[in-house]
Amino acid sequence: MNIKLTCLSCGQANRIPQDRLRAKPKCGTCGAPLVGAAPVEISLDVLKKAERMDDLPLIVDFWAAWCGPCRMMAPEFAKAAQALQGVARFAKLDTEAFPAAGGRYGIRGIPLLIAFRGGREIGRRTGVTPAQEIADWVGASAGK
Ligand code: ZN
Repeated sequence: MNIKLTCLSCGQANRIPQDRLRAKPKCGTCGAPLVGAAPVEISLDVLKKAERMDDLPLIVDFWAAWCGPCRMMAPEFAKAAQALQGVARFAKLDTEAFPAAGGRYGIRGIPLLIAFRGGREIGRRTGVTPAQEIADWVGASAGK
């Protein structure tokens, strides 16, 4: 079975066999890894495409450089990304660089995590969250 994944670097839609998820698949257009072990910094345009079509859960950390709790949570988010490589993809969106995200996603506070899959939001949570709790929450959201 093929699954759809948006390249988090260039926004290109890719189709890859599900059993190749762990074989380090690369984007057919720009060559960036499609399934990495670390969160990828993304633009709002790329997020709009990925949230619409990705078959793998996409977990987005909405953050800003001025936000102390966001900086505290960054290493926890990275740990969760590594633990769930191939299960979910992790991205970060800088809410200062992309202020339009605030209205689009109804952001009232950061850090905010939103999980997307198959064109819909499958979960969200705010506040500093330890890696294990992020992983548990992603597992519970992905089961919905
Ligand atoms: Zn690409």
